[in-house]
Amino acid sequence: MSGRSKIVVIGSGMGGLACAIDLAAAGHEVTVVERAATPGGKMHQVAVGNRRLDGGPTILTMRWVFDQLFADAGAELDTHVALRPAGLLARHAWSRSEHLDLFAEVDRSADAIGAFAGAREARGYRAFAAESARIYGALRDTFLTRDRCGLVGLSWRIAQQNLPALFALRPYETLWQALGDHFRDPRLRQLFGRYATYCGASPFEAPATLMLIAHVEQQGVWLVDGDMRALADAMAALAASREVVFRYQAEAERILVRHGRATGVALRSGEEIAADAVVVAADASALRAGAFGPEAAAAVGGARAPVRSLSAVTWAMSAHAEGLTPARHNVFFSRDYRAEFDDLAQGRVPAQPTVYLCAQDRDDAGEGAGGAERLFLLINAPADGDRSARDARELARCETTVLDHLRSCGLAVTPTGSPTVTTPREFEAMFPHTGGALYGQAMHGWAAAFRRPGSRSRLPGLYLAGGSVHPGAGVPMAALSGRLAARRLMQDRASTSTFRRGATAGGTSMP
Ligand SMILES: Cc1cc2nc3c(=O)[nH]c(=O)nc-3n(C[C@H](O)[C@H](O)[C@H](O)COP(=O)(O)OP(=O)(O)OC[C@H]3O[C@@H](n4cnc5c(N)ncnc54)[C@H](O)[C@@H]3O)c2cc1C
Repeated sequence: MSGRSKIVVIGSGMGGLACAIDLAAAGHEVTVVERAATPGGKMHQVAVGNRRLDGGPTILTMRWVFDQLFADAGAELDTHVALRPAGLLARHAWSRSEHLDLFAEVDRSADAIGAFAGAREARGYRAFAAESARIYGALRDTFLTRDRCGLVGLSWRIAQQNLPALFALRPYETLWQALGDHFRDPRLRQLFGRYATYCGASPFEAPATLMLIAHVEQQGVWLVDGDMRALADAMAALAASREVVFRYQAEAERILVRHGRATGVALRSGEEIAADAVVVAADASALRAGAFGPEAAAAVGGARAPVRSLSAVTWAMSAHAEGLTPARHNVFFSRDYRAEFDDLAQGRVPAQPTVYLCAQDRDDAGEGAGGAERLFLLINAPADGDRSARDARELARCETTVLDHLRSCGLAVTPTGSPTVTTPREFEAMFPHTGGALYGQAMHGWAAAFRRPGSRSRLPGLYLAGGSVHPGAGVPMAALSGRLAARRLMQDRASTSTFRRGATAGGTSMP
């Protein structure tokens, strides 16, 4: 095909896959090099005995991102992967007698909150839901789906669209402070403050703007038939059907640079793949640390490494669950959220952690499991996997604390064998130079969202995608970053004299 560019994408996580799909759909020749044996990156599975379960993301939101991605490539999401909406978003517990379910409909959640904490808190919840919707509305088409910009640029974009929306953002307040306007009950402040951890941040340091995540969930949480991994497989299959070549167990070691321009990728095996442009869809911290060579490192700049987002300790297990019926998504809160985040800030695994539990054989309301079922448990941990390791005794103690906490909330979990434990050290091994940070740099302070790298690097021909770059972490956001990188790359290629414009036909539907 005339005007076809040759592009190498490093990494087949959400960002890399979305980028590869858009580039290939526009007619470019795309090779994805991936150090793991399968696509998906953090959207991976772990083995427990002879069963497999999701060991990465479990909550899928913003399905419109994937609807648009597939549609723009001439396909339909629903024919590739089956998604069902969750009516019950999550079950929350603080003790044996304090349980609260949140639902997809605001009215149902408000009723549940009213019964749990009183009419004033139910009114507070309605006000909170309206505010989070306003923030999301202000940012969706001005920030999330657009190239990175600064606060001034963002203000300009919002003002053009809807001036009053500009005052909805509250960037200078922390999420925790803003929640105090809506909730007096500390449990509800904790529940909604936890949304900061969806991008690996502390609610005590994250900007109030992050309350938009509550609205994202309100708009729909989706259960994926065949586990989350089915989405990564569907994206890889779509890419392959558009002639993307996947090279698994192929680790990129260096970005080739000639005459001040990225010209390909050298693999650890010694092989070199020439390209007109390269997209790094691995973590930007690897690039910054020099994992792809010094010229590539200089392309992201910044002398100081940014503060890392949180990591996690996870347990994947086959287990019997008795007592409280778990829903698909469950949270067992610690009593003292401040102490939990103080521990994390001091580099410690919290002494009394909040536990997220995903019952992967159950539907949203908790139906569907019988006998031993697949459970995935997660607690937040500092991203120190490149500096320290936790010994078996410490991990065993931590597991006992976690299971005791669940029992104190009414759920007895008895593993049928040894759980598969993943610590920041294993996450660091899977995602090098991150320390196990799962969401790029920490979203702390008002400026954090603007400090992430954008799609275009300082090195011509080198682009960035993935959860560590704009617009941020999370499955749909990382996919959006891949689309932004593809679009920016195609725009740049189109504006060079050697590029034939025909190759960019069939652009994307992002605003
Ligand atoms: C335990 C856990 C729970 C999570 N829960 C949720 C959730 O419920 N909902 C949600 O939306 N998000 C969640 N997330 C976050 C979400 O998974 C990520 O933000 C998103 O998947 C990241 O995608 P990415 O594009 O950054 O690529 P990544 O998933 O980071 O993949 C990068 C890929 O690059 C490859 N790579 C790295 N270096 C090289 C190299 N040198 N050569 C070749 N390949 C390389 C890696 O092997 C990897 O496959 C969770 C993450 C984890 C780990």
